[in-house]
Amino acid sequence: MTTAVREVSVFGDGIAYFNQAADLLELDAGMRRILTHPSRQIIFSIPFQRDSGEMEVFTGYRVQYNFARGPAKGGIRFHPGVTLDEVTALAFWMTWKCAVVDLPFGGGKGGVTCDPATLSQNELERITRRYAAELVEVVGPDKDVPAPDVNTTPQVMAWFMDTYSMHVRQHVPGVVTGKPLEIGGSRGRVEATGRGVTICALDEMSHMGLVPEQSKIVIQGFGNVGLYAAKLFAERGCSVVGISDVTGAYYNKNGIDVHAAIEHAAKHRNLEGFKGGDKISNGELLTSECDVLVPAALEKVFTAENAPNVKAKLIVEGANGPTTPEADSIFKQKGIVVIPDIMANAGGVTVSYFEWVQDRMGYFWKESEVNERLEDVLLANLGELRAIKNARSSTFRVAAYALAIDRVVKAARLRGIYA
Ligand code: GLU
Repeated sequence: MTTAVREVSVFGDGIAYFNQAADLLELDAGMRRILTHPSRQIIFSIPFQRDSGEMEVFTGYRVQYNFARGPAKGGIRFHPGVTLDEVTALAFWMTWKCAVVDLPFGGGKGGVTCDPATLSQNELERITRRYAAELVEVVGPDKDVPAPDVNTTPQVMAWFMDTYSMHVRQHVPGVVTGKPLEIGGSRGRVEATGRGVTICALDEMSHMGLVPEQSKIVIQGFGNVGLYAAKLFAERGCSVVGISDVTGAYYNKNGIDVHAAIEHAAKHRNLEGFKGGDKISNGELLTSECDVLVPAALEKVFTAENAPNVKAKLIVEGANGPTTPEADSIFKQKGIVVIPDIMANAGGVTVSYFEWVQDRMGYFWKESEVNERLEDVLLANLGELRAIKNARSSTFRVAAYALAIDRVVKAARLRGIYA
């Protein structure tokens, strides 16, 4: 039983990575103990009535992992696979992600175990509002700031913001980020995670001598991260040879027409029936011929089974937790460079931070300003990781955790323990 739990635990993967970097930093046992425990885990029931009148109960979660550097920050996920273990792992990763790009936030994450594909807009709105109402006391611009994640959209953020504002009886746009522009969202937020993935990828590609115009890219997942990453890679002259979503994977060695794929997905809600490439399985996609591979879906995509067959030279983790520690050490042995999730997909939370800042000022920036500041933040911190990686002969992942842990530990030590 214990072994089974260990095998499926996503948080377990996170802790394994944490320990590798903690060893490098020679972090003391007490601080390790503190940083491997979530500050707060909230679980609640969401009773709701379907449009048909049928009653159901879903489970909602919010984990506020760490507050040492600021309010908790992280998305809300609506997915059938959401569990306390997963949300805790994701909140843990947000802590390091915010620290790795030096944002004044801690880490949080939330979710509801449900399948949005089976829900009407009205049902989705009712679930979101009840979810938000349950969290009124514990979220807020200076407490915990949610954002979109898998299957949650700017519209969902608008409902969350409205529900919270109604409860506290004032307008509080900064309670969530990833909102529509009309109600205090930031320009550039929707594309930000995908943009960050391409910024990190192109920077490392130039260090590896991979010329964009001659590089083949494969992207797993065509949601908010994968779609914009594909678009931006194509705009930079790269050849996107493989894409995928829940309906399967599509491969074209001469390059997929990304624009056509985006239009297809917008029209049909997914890539089903897309004719711009040969249909292959998701497993085949991950081991197909390419230079750069971007997992941009869910956790535990690379395992000890498929990692030996991965042919990419560079993996850029658009998703959170796509690589198990076993797969990670295989990639290391094979000389595959991995830009880890907490760096590669930090573009989203970085522009969330910009949104939070703009909401507090009530003054909004031009898109070019947002994109420029995003690139500055990501490249400065990726540069720091490269320096640590080279000095310590480590991987980017260990360097990223080491930099992040060091920043959180400094804040935690300065604040001390309040007892
Ligand atoms: N859900 C995104 C992530 O995993 C964004 C979080 C945020 O913007 O707060 O990084």
